[in-house]
Parts: sequence; structure tokens; C-alpha cells
Amino acid sequence: MDHDVVIIGGGPSGLSTALHLQRTAPHLSTRILILEKARYPRLKLCAGGLSLDAEIILQRLGLDVSEVPHVDVENIHFDFEAKGLNIRIPKRHALRVIRRDEFDNWLAQKVRGLGIEIREGVTVKNILPPKNGVLVETDQGNFHAQVVVGADGSNGVTRRCIFPNAPVYTARVLEVITPTDPHRPAGTSPNSYGFGGGREGAFFDFFPVPNNIAGYVWDFPTQIKGESMRCWGIYDTNLLSNENRPQLKETLAQEMERHGFDLDDYEIKGHPIRWFSPDNPMSVPGVLLVGDAIGADSIFGEGISIALGYGNLAARAIKDAFQRNDFSFRKYKTRVLMSPLGQTLIARWFITYIIYPLKWKWFQVLLWRILKPIVIVVAWIFVLNWGRRMPQPQT
Ligand SMILES: Cc1cc2nc3c(=O)[nH]c(=O)nc-3n(C[C@H](O)[C@H](O)[C@H](O)COP(=O)(O)OP(=O)(O)OC[C@H]3O[C@@H](n4cnc5c(N)ncnc54)[C@H](O)[C@@H]3O)c2cc1C
Repeated sequence: MDHDVVIIGGGPSGLSTALHLQRTAPHLSTRILILEKARYPRLKLCAGGLSLDAEIILQRLGLDVSEVPHVDVENIHFDFEAKGLNIRIPKRHALRVIRRDEFDNWLAQKVRGLGIEIREGVTVKNILPPKNGVLVETDQGNFHAQVVVGADGSNGVTRRCIFPNAPVYTARVLEVITPTDPHRPAGTSPNSYGFGGGREGAFFDFFPVPNNIAGYVWDFPTQIKGESMRCWGIYDTNLLSNENRPQLKETLAQEMERHGFDLDDYEIKGHPIRWFSPDNPMSVPGVLLVGDAIGADSIFGEGISIALGYGNLAARAIKDAFQRNDFSFRKYKTRVLMSPLGQTLIARWFITYIIYPLKWKWFQVLLWRILKPIVIVVAWIFVLNWGRRMPQPQT
């Protein structure tokens, strides 16, 4: 056996699994290998919104994410057609926005600093079912491990190898980076939110739902190499894919135009997000999945905090497997579903099937503008605050 644990993918879920393993089962540290197909700092399409739960999980690992370049957002707006509810958290930011090339590179350095090996530029091609361990075939030779963790994201090879026929719930997502102010031709009127820094806060607008796009358009402040920018995008769970829908690009362009931006002036990029459903499979003997390979939050496609949380649970499952010498991972799915992470994912999945299929304009107005206190309480209990309830990483 070359390694006790091979982790496929060095994004937040794979790196978090390694960091939690180092805390939970330090004797395994030198026998962990992370295989990452790209090289840090590598591009990852993502708006980079870090929720409070992500920060809590990192803090508990002794990590201070403020070391990474970031923008703190005080107000988050959840709107329908530009009007709705505004969330602030007293005495702290409501959202921290990082760039994923910088964040993942930082996290990878922390992992390396603990003596865990990461091999970059290695693409995993195939995973062969366990027979005295699992065989991982890559473009640079084979690796043999007692346990393999599939942390290779929404399009990952691990899930495709171990569950070739499993149902896949996938959202469509487009993203665009713009300056804070649109370039306006001389002589036209100023944009709706004045000059200089762009509008204040992070915005989610659910106006596309009545048109069968079961999601929202977002607009976050961000920074690139220290320069203030905005990150725009559109998320569609695909829940209303049987209905007639406008092009995602058209809908995003419509919202950006309302703020004076012409989408054609910017580069548009897309990537799917696989979202959590309780029927998503999670493990086979010798192999377990984490992060987007199982599924991100279905309401928003929020996946960074979720990926960090999966790492905590996978590390515990792996520690128990070595203690008992039982690598069946039979109870891994139950462990995930029963955990605070699993409970928020189930609640969010349930909420997704209410707020998007009830797509009528009157319902969306009711939800985002009239039922504000109820929405805030539901969000506080079922969507946020799960990170605090996760098991402490042991030292
Ligand atoms: C446009 C967009 C915007 C988003 N915005 C947000 C947001 O604001 N906030 C938020 O919380 N979430 C957001 N998400 C979701 C978030 O990006 C993901 O949920 C998160 O990255 C999942 O982490 P992960 O580690 O599971 O997978 P990933 O981050 O995808 O990491 C997987 C890693 O595996 C590597 N890999 C893949 N295949 C192989 C292979 N065969 N061999 C070796 N290595 C491999 C990849 O190079 C990558 O480094 C967004 C997603 C998209 C697409």
C-alpha cells in the first residue's frame, strides 16, 4: 500500500479533509497524499462568498482567513425585482468575499505547512474498486491507498467511477467580473447608484423565478489584485427545466443593463454546481465523497462552507475506519445526514422545493417582501449557524 489516504482534488473539501485528519488522527498525516490536477494558485470559477459558518470552521482549525485578500460586506439583500429584505449581523460583516485562486492557495499552504504532501499537476483518470485497498490511476502512474476521498468537485471522476448511474442534480451557473461602475458613453445619465464605489452590499434577486429560472441573479463586491470590482452571476437549479425558459445569459444581461452594464463588454464563464439531495450516494467500501462530489447547498449553490464541513465528517469517518479496521464506510451517509451539516443541507433541499416551484410572482413578492420576519427566523435556524454545532476538530 503506497498511502493510507489519497485525497483526489485540492479544493476546500479535499484540503479541509486533510486539515481535519491532521487534528483528528495526527499519526496518519505523513501517510496522506493529495492529488490535484491544476497548480496553485489555480483558477476556480466562484463568487467567493464566505458565510459565517465557513469562518467558524476555519477558526476552529486555528486558521485566520483574514490573511487572505478579501472584501467584507455589511448588508446582504434578498430581493424580488429590486425590493426585499436586508440582512445585517450586529458588530460584524454579514459576508466575506475572497477570490478562490488566493483562498485555495492559502489553504493549500496551511496543509503543506503541517507536513501533508500535495502533488500538483496530477490528473486522476480512474478509480478501481477495492481489493486490498483502492487503485487510483493517474496520468503520472498508479497509486494504491487504503482509503480514497473523492474531493474532485461537481464534474469529478471519483463519483463517475463509483456511481456511474446515480441521479445527478445539477445547477447551471454563469459568472462575470466587472469594474464597480459601468463604462458609460459620454453624455448619458449617471447610473442608478452614483459614482465611485458601486452599490453597497451583496445582492440576490429572485426576479427570474416566474420565468422558470429556478434561482437568482447575484451581484457582489470583490477585489482582484487589490482593485475593487464586482462579481455578477446567475444561478439556476434547473428545477423548472421542463418549462419554457429564457436563455440564462439574456436574464443576466437584463439585470446588468438595469445597472448600466452591457454584458457583451465582459467575459462570461460558466460551470455547473452539483447540489445536495438526500438520495445522493456518498460512499462505497474504501472510497468516500466530500464537497461538490456529494452536493452543495441547493438554494444558493453555496458550497465553500459546506465543503469545509464535509471535510470534518470525512476525517472522523476515516479515523474510525482505521481504528476498527473496517473500511466499508457503511455508516458514512448516516453520519453526514445526522450531522448539523446534513441537517442544514436537508432543510435547504426542502426549502428549495418550496421557493422555486412556487414560482408565481405573487408568491415571490410575499416571500421576499412581506414574510420578512418569518424568512429571517427560518434562515437563522435552518440555513445559518450549523458550523458552530459541528464536532470540534480534536487536537
Ligand atoms: C460560478 C460559481 C459561483 C459560486 N459562488 C459561490 C459562493 O459565492 N460561495 C460559496 O460558498 N460557493 C460558491 N460556489 C460553489 C463553490 O465554488 C463549490 O461548492 C466549492 O468549490 C466546492 O469545493 P470542492 O472542494 O468540493 O470542489 P472544487 O472547489 O471544485 O475543487 C475540486 C478540485 O479537484 C481538482 N480535480 C478535479 N478533477 C480532478 C482529477 N481528475 N484529478 C485531480 N484533481 C482533480 C480540481 O482542479 C479542483 O482543485 C460557486 C460555484 C460556481 C460555479
